[in-house]
Amino acid sequence: LDPRINDELAAWDRDHLLHPTTHTANHARGDVPGRIVTGGEGVYIEDRDGKRYLDAFAALYCVNAGYGRTEIADAISEQAHKLAFFHSFAGQGNEPAIRLAKMIMDRAPDHMARVYFGLSGSDANETNVKLAWQYNVLRGKPEKRKIISRWRAYHGSGIVSGSMTGLQSYHARFHLPLDGFLHTHSPQYLRRPDADMSEADFVNWLIGDLEAMIEREGPDTICAFIGEPAMGTGGIMPPPESYWGRVQEVLERHDILLIADEVVTGFGRSGQMFGSETYDLKPDFMTIAKGLTSAYAPLSGSIISQRVFDVLMQGTDDFGPLAHGWTYSAHPVSAAAGIATLNLIDDMGLVENARAMGPVFQEALKDAMDGHPNVAEVRGVGLMAAVEFAADPATRDWFAPMTVGPKIAEAMTQRGVIARAMPEANTVGFAPPLCITPDEITIVAQTLRAAADEVL
Ligand code: PLP
Repeated sequence: LDPRINDELAAWDRDHLLHPTTHTANHARGDVPGRIVTGGEGVYIEDRDGKRYLDAFAALYCVNAGYGRTEIADAISEQAHKLAFFHSFAGQGNEPAIRLAKMIMDRAPDHMARVYFGLSGSDANETNVKLAWQYNVLRGKPEKRKIISRWRAYHGSGIVSGSMTGLQSYHARFHLPLDGFLHTHSPQYLRRPDADMSEADFVNWLIGDLEAMIEREGPDTICAFIGEPAMGTGGIMPPPESYWGRVQEVLERHDILLIADEVVTGFGRSGQMFGSETYDLKPDFMTIAKGLTSAYAPLSGSIISQRVFDVLMQGTDDFGPLAHGWTYSAHPVSAAAGIATLNLIDDMGLVENARAMGPVFQEALKDAMDGHPNVAEVRGVGLMAAVEFAADPATRDWFAPMTVGPKIAEAMTQRGVIARAMPEANTVGFAPPLCITPDEITIVAQTLRAAADEVL
């Protein structure tokens, strides 16, 4: 490839594009080593220089079916030719959206009743909060409106979804979180407040904090609790086994709704179709996105329970139409991508592969990192996994946040494997396409070891 073409493109990129979660000044100055990706096949992507990378993070845990799937691309093309768009306001519809809604509800837990389509995980979480608020207003409890989330959670970058996100950098200088959005502790046993705490004591401590928050604020002011079944962006953190059962018991006792944010865990990543199955959750709302279309087109959904749907139905009988609509809700081209993706998930056995490869992935990481003095923990569920590093794991002497993790991830990239440095710690995260094989897993694990040995 003529390097001058790359130079010109890179200059246009610096001069015209404002990138998400990027150091704006460094990028504009040309100090960020950007990568312009041009193609992909299976678990591999290729950049403009022809360099191949094994993408062990499925872009942003979303290209779950892998790159280059013609079945999905063809479905998108066919639908765009037939009907690129018509809106779904006032009960109008399009065939792919209706078919996809049926496929999603066939797969969702039995007590769920309807799906409302959006375009991103962030907007689906905004929808969930609005519908949860409306549910309580319609029940004559308008003051029940606060939302409890957790530190280290990621629920999006909007005003409401960003308020629910529990990462400081997403709040600072944005006037977030909004009033009424609260955060309790995240269930990461490794970072328990006291090294001597058993896992059971740690869960008691978490539940105690949650109960205290609810009592302090007043149960009559709390609308919903939102959580990722297993936390993703906060560091890929499966919760202790008893955690969700205990949380749900508290929520039920105080008439607080549960929003399960399945944007990462949905459609197989946790080793079951939904993380709610893996952790035995009975949510009132489920947020879905990413894996729903394997990111071949933007699409998200808010799945609502029968009890919420019943109240919303009554509400429109009393007050008229549900005044909440995105132009592109139920976009037919995205829905066509969704249908093709769900069919591929079945045909390729991706949920089963995630379930089978999850332990293989964790074992490979453990084997590769065996004896490394800075490994504090190897953890994961299904095909999401992480390795957290510390200066001295035995004495819980942590590295300063983001000092080591990003360097290891970058050293992996240099060796042709993409992983992700998770924020606010020194954790390297993995969430590969669900079609990954044992040989590819071995490459990922060995590359992590080589990168860690280089950096530490
Ligand atoms: N919820 C979770 C759990 C996520 O991980 C993300 C994105 O990573 C979102 C919501 C936001 O989704 P989007 O980036 O599509 O708005």
